[in-house]
Amino acid sequence: MPRADFQVVIGLEVHAQLLTTSKLFSGAGTSFGGAPNAHTSIVCLGLPGVLPVLNQRAVELAIRTGHALECTVAERSEWSRKHYFYPDLPKGYQITQYEFPICVGGRVVFDGPDGEKSVRLTRIHMEEDAGKLVHESAASLVDLNRAGTPLLEIVSEPDLRTADDAVEYLKALRDILVWIGVNDGNLEEGSFRCDANVSVMRHGSTTFGTRCELKNLNSFRFIKQAIEIEATRQVEIIEAGGKVEQETRLFDPQRGETRSMRSKEDAHDYRYFPDPDLPPLLLTPERIERSRKELPELPRARRKRYVDALGLPAYDAGVLTSDRAMSDLFERCVAEAGEAKPVSNWFMGELSRLLNETKTNTADVKFSPVQFAALLKAIKDGVVSGPGAKEVFAELFATGKDPSLIIQEKGLAQVNDDGPLLEAIAQAMAEAPKNVESYRGGNTKIIGAFVGAVMKKLGGKGNPKRINELLTEKLKA
Ligand code: ADP
Ligand code: MG
Repeated sequence: MPRADFQVVIGLEVHAQLLTTSKLFSGAGTSFGGAPNAHTSIVCLGLPGVLPVLNQRAVELAIRTGHALECTVAERSEWSRKHYFYPDLPKGYQITQYEFPICVGGRVVFDGPDGEKSVRLTRIHMEEDAGKLVHESAASLVDLNRAGTPLLEIVSEPDLRTADDAVEYLKALRDILVWIGVNDGNLEEGSFRCDANVSVMRHGSTTFGTRCELKNLNSFRFIKQAIEIEATRQVEIIEAGGKVEQETRLFDPQRGETRSMRSKEDAHDYRYFPDPDLPPLLLTPERIERSRKELPELPRARRKRYVDALGLPAYDAGVLTSDRAMSDLFERCVAEAGEAKPVSNWFMGELSRLLNETKTNTADVKFSPVQFAALLKAIKDGVVSGPGAKEVFAELFATGKDPSLIIQEKGLAQVNDDGPLLEAIAQAMAEAPKNVESYRGGNTKIIGAFVGAVMKKLGGKGNPKRINELLTEKLKA
C-alpha cells in the first residue's frame, strides 16, 4: 500500500453563480437554458465602445456570502482584466477581482466522519462567467448565454486532507449558499462548480508537494473519485522517482482517470490590470453592517438550537434544516402548537411524503401554522383518531380548509361517548360467545379480535383507548 506513506493535500476553488435576474455588467437575463445567444446584450457580446455597469444586486449577494462565511468584507475592492483568447470570451479578457477581492479570510465549518472541522478560506471574489462552445461535427458553435453571468469564486486554503472531507466541505458550503439565497446549488447545471487542487507529500513533511488542478467535477461522487485517482497517480510518480508537473487536468469519469489539459499558466501570463472602465467598488461600513444584521440564522446554528432548545433528536434537526422553507415553516408551526416533537414527526413523515408525491415546494403549502396547530389539538383532545388525522392532514394539505371543517365534512370525528361504544361492544360480544368464553377461560389475547370487531362497527372512528378500557371491563364480568 504505497498510499499509507503519503498525505493528500486539497484546496478547493468553487464557482457559484449568483441568483440575480440580470448579468454582472449588463441588463441581459441569466435564466438557464433558452435558445443559444438569446440572453445576451451588446455588453456580453463585447461590442466595441460599450461600457459595463455594475449590478448592485450581485454585490449585495456577495456581501451576504461574506458574512455567512465569516469573512472580512472589504470596504474597497477592485475590478481587473484577466486576458486570454478563446471564442467563449469575445472581449478578450474576463472582468474579475484580482488583487483586491470583496471578501478576505473566513471559514467553512462542517461535520466530518470524525467530528467538527473548519477549513479556512483565502478569499472570495466576484467575476463574470464566460460563454460556452458547442462542438458539432462540422464546426464549433458559440453560445454566449452564460457570458457575463455573475459568479463568486470561493477559494479555500489547502486545509483539506481527504476526499471525503472535501465532499463534506462542499456540501456544507453549498447548503449555506442555498440557505441564504445566493445560489441554487445545482452541480449538474453548473451553477455550483468546483475545481480541486490536489498534491501529495510524505507524512511528516512540512512542505507541500506540487499540485494539479482538476476540472470537470460536476457531481460529489466525481469529486471524490477524481481526488482519489489523482492522488494515487501522483504517489505512483513520486515512488517511481519522478516529479509531478504542475498542470490543469481533466477528470474522465468513464475511464476513471485524469489527463493533462494544459500546463498551468502563471498569473503574469494573464496580463492582469485594473479595468479602466470600472471604478473601484466602495462599500460604506453602514452598508456592510446592514447586510450583517439581515443575515438569517444559518443551518448549523439552527440544527444546534433544535437539539439544545427544542429537545429534538439530532436526526430530526438534520432533516428539518435540510431545506430553509421547510425549517421556516416548522418554526412557525412550533410557535403555534407550543411543542416541537409532534410537529417534527408530522413534518418528517406525512408532510415530506405529500410534498414528494405531489412535487410541491414547501414554500407553496396551502395550510397555515394556525390550522396545523388546530389539527394537533384535535388529535390531543381525541376529536380525531390517529388514522383519521392522517386523512384530515391529507385534505388540509390539498385544500387548506380548516381541520374542524374537514373532520365534519368527512365524518371523521372520533366516537368518544361511552353510549355508542358500549352498544357496539355488546353487539360484538353477542356475535362471538365462544370468544367471550375463551377470554374468560384465560385467553386474554383474544381481546384484539373484539377491538377489531367493535372498530368495524364504528366505521373505524371509535376511540381505541376507551374501547379497550370498556371491553376489558365487560369481558371480565
Ligand atoms: P490559482 O489562481 O493559480 O488557481 P491559487 O493560489 O489561487 O492559485 O490557489 C488555488 C488553490 O490551490 C487554493 O484553493 C489553494 O488552497 C490550493 N493549493 C495551493 N497549493 C496547494 C498544494 N500544494 N496542494 C493542494 N492545493 C493547493
Ligand atoms: Mg484558480
